Amino acid sequence: MVMFYPTVVTDEKPCVRHVVKDKNYCMCGSKYKSYSTFKRSDFKRIEFKQVTDITCPYCQSIIN
Ligand SMILES: [Zn+2]
Repeated sequence: MVMFYPTVVTDEKPCVRHVVKDKNYCMCGSKYKSYSTFKRSDFKRIEFKQVTDITCPYCQSIIN
């Protein structure tokens, strides 16, 4: 069975893909959004990907 996770990249490191934990943070504790309001554009940043597409080793180890 293939699992898909909500993922996001941060502005600082666009090459590293994280797993979304909540509306501000990734699984590894990285903040992907600094402001508190959740806008429509924020949803567009989140992409559903397979575990093999997640390049943050911390996020990957948490969901594995
Ligand atoms: Zn991460």
